[in-house]
Amino acid sequence: MGTLAGDFAMAIQVNLLSHSEDPMRSLYMAYRTCYSQLTPQQVAARVEDERIPREKMHNFIVERLKTGHASPLEQVWFEFAISGVSRAFSHQFVRHRVGISFEQQSQRYVTYKKGEFPYSIPKSVEKAGMSEKMEDLFGKAGALYEELVEAGVPAEDARFLLPNATTTNFKITVNFQSLLHICDLRLCTRAQWEFRRVAALMRAEVAKAVPELGGYLQPKCGELRTGYCDESVEDWEACPIGRVRPHKDALFRLYDQYRKGELQPLREEDWDAIEGIGAEVAGGG
Ligand SMILES: Cc1cc2nc3c(=O)[nH]c(=O)nc-3n(C[C@H](O)[C@H](O)[C@H](O)COP(=O)(O)OP(=O)(O)OC[C@H]3O[C@@H](n4cnc5c(N)ncnc54)[C@H](O)[C@@H]3O)c2cc1C
Repeated sequence: MGTLAGDFAMAIQVNLLSHSEDPMRSLYMAYRTCYSQLTPQQVAARVEDERIPREKMHNFIVERLKTGHASPLEQVWFEFAISGVSRAFSHQFVRHRVGISFEQQSQRYVTYKKGEFPYSIPKSVEKAGMSEKMEDLFGKAGALYEELVEAGVPAEDARFLLPNATTTNFKITVNFQSLLHICDLRLCTRAQWEFRRVAALMRAEVAKAVPELGGYLQPKCGELRTGYCDESVEDWEACPIGRVRPHKDALFRLYDQYRKGELQPLREEDWDAIEGIGAEVAGGG
């Protein structure tokens, strides 16, 4: 019943089940109500008869998304089915408290038959050549689980011996603001690989269904989010994305120099580079 590391990627499944009927209209209505003399009913009528075309709605939303006015994003929701994730993942997932509702497969009401519980094994364990040992242990745990159940121990107590590797399933509803926040944190390379995988799959599902919004689901350093890294300098240096993202300390240093008038002026050689002196052949166009 286990999932070997080799097919582990296939074991995690994330599907968008449903979402707000028309997310762009919901967002437009929410923002426009704040900034218009019109009533929301009048705005809705104009959207309905296309006096406000989709493109105008889209452009308006793009401008609002550049601001910190985030509460309208809470009015758009997404429903996901998520399966084959480990209990190690689920402990982290349910730490998100705001704008998200979870239902998770129960280990109280679900008794694993014949002691066969589903599990997954990380690639790192397989690479270390240790997956057989791990599976062997899980086999023994399953046998003892079965023994306990047969001895009358309820599933809610027999589960005490199950590992973090045991897989579980979710049905969740999350609003767009909360999903952006989850992706800020969990698409960051500092997050655990399994959570990164799930967040990336949620992102892909949203991008398929609502392409106008999917792209906004980025790690917090993404160009549509803060654009910089706020983790430690050591983590930033170790991150492959760090090469294309400034660290916040660098931004503050730059700001400080600018404020004090100490910004390095352009030098002669910089002007040589700009004017292409010594490189007449390069560039062009
Ligand atoms: C890389 C990484 C490592 C982590 N390591 C650990 C760890 O070692 N140990 C551990 O216990 N956890 C750890 N966590 C989990 C982390 O502490 C948070 O519990 C988790 O990320 C949920 O984040 P959140 O509170 O921002 O999100 P949410 O709960 O979804 O909150 C959303 C927003 O609302 C705000 N908010 C929510 N509730 C309140 C409130 N009551 N008062 C004020 N503001 C509120 C939050 O600050 C946040 O801005 C880790 C998370 C990450 C990403």
